[in-house]
Amino acid sequence: MRRQRQAKIVATLGPASDSRDMIQALFQAGADVFRFNFSHGSHADHQARYQIVREVEQRVGRPIAILADLQGPKLRVGQFSTGKVMLEAGQEFTLDSDTSPGDQRRVCLPHPELFAVIGTGQSLLLDDGKLRLQVVDAANGSIRTRVVNGGVLSDRKGVNVPDAVLPIPALTEKDKRDLAFALELGVDWIALSFVQRPEDVLEARALVAGRAAILSKLEKPAALDRLEEIVQVSDAIMVARGDLGVELPPERVPGTQKRILRVCRQLGKPIVIATQMLESMIVSPVPTRAEVSDVASAIYDGSDAVMLSAESASGAWPVEAVAIMDRIINEVERDPLYRNMLDAQHEKPQANRADAICSALRDVTQIVGATATVTYTSSGHTSLRAARERPMAPILSITPRLTTARRLALVWGVHSTISDQIHNESEMVNAACQTALREGFAKPGDQIAITAGMPFGQPGSTNLLRLAEVWG
Ligand code: PGA
Ligand code: MN
Repeated sequence: MRRQRQAKIVATLGPASDSRDMIQALFQAGADVFRFNFSHGSHADHQARYQIVREVEQRVGRPIAILADLQGPKLRVGQFSTGKVMLEAGQEFTLDSDTSPGDQRRVCLPHPELFAVIGTGQSLLLDDGKLRLQVVDAANGSIRTRVVNGGVLSDRKGVNVPDAVLPIPALTEKDKRDLAFALELGVDWIALSFVQRPEDVLEARALVAGRAAILSKLEKPAALDRLEEIVQVSDAIMVARGDLGVELPPERVPGTQKRILRVCRQLGKPIVIATQMLESMIVSPVPTRAEVSDVASAIYDGSDAVMLSAESASGAWPVEAVAIMDRIINEVERDPLYRNMLDAQHEKPQANRADAICSALRDVTQIVGATATVTYTSSGHTSLRAARERPMAPILSITPRLTTARRLALVWGVHSTISDQIHNESEMVNAACQTALREGFAKPGDQIAITAGMPFGQPGSTNLLRLAEVWG
């Protein structure tokens, strides 16, 4: 079974999509990666999901990636004696460390680290940015503010502090427990929320210790100040437009998305565009024209993947949402303008052997009209660098490692397969031709281009480019 498109779809699982039938249907409709959102659900919920996804993977015979998304240091206010209060524009409101229930005048902010970095004039955004408070003064463990945009504030609503680099670790105690659990399950990707600094990624990487790949979610303005460094130390990036659009004025999100995309494409790191892509489909079987356009634009810009959140996790039309994304991607990729746009933004190879080979692979594929670019890979590196070239023909990635095959499910153009370790060049050509035939990437007489590293099986040795004619 092969998909006819290059860009990928990430679907978040949740109460609307946890059943075996649903997960199977989401895969059939086009989901390549399943996201488990650790902000919601118990470990038992995630474990049940995990087992079903692996069963589906077995049944369909295609590697599927599982992305465990850690909640990260999401700040929240405490509770109110009445459950909620109404804040009026112009009134004063105080956030403090007193854990007793809040009222019309004050509430607890159970994050002591914050008090030291908040200064007069800064903004606090509450409940996804619906309410805005301006700091009048901050001293002695209490922040006195004036309400700029009022509204209802209820228990445990989120707090965003766009103007500050918060002196808080990227992983909370809950994240550490969730991380250990997710790694124990065997997830393929770990998503880090609210990354602010490259050090945050390195800290997580030390804990993950190679057991999963790391995706950094960009949703803090502070992360944009060190964008290149963060992308460099991450395995993939998500433009997390939900929180990003609270922390930045919404009109700055599209340009920021394009800037992040450019850096990721340059460095060859997979990029996922996320949040509100088909938001209206939470309740409606058809998307708005603007949503369709948003998904299509992300694809035209060269994204690796587009993501569904509540649409597939808790909406009324999860399968339809995936199916529509699939149709949009297919349509964009058939448009000659898409190829023009990819070519116009083609990044120069960097000065290393893998890029030299993959750049040649791209040219050769185009010149001879190869139907597949076959990459032999152990760690996935060669397939990633081939994907960075955005070649004309799909990338048929062959690896002996199941974990590599699964991780690559997130990457543009990569169709991953698993095979035994090869030992010499004739085995390599044979296996490439057979795999291309079997997986529907070539018919007898077609040309394929093959890359590998010799000695075979040694990571980082990409040094071989071979053309072959497929025989029947
Ligand atoms: P979340 O991240 O859904 O975990 O908040 C995505 C976003 O903020 O866009
Ligand atoms: Mn977020």
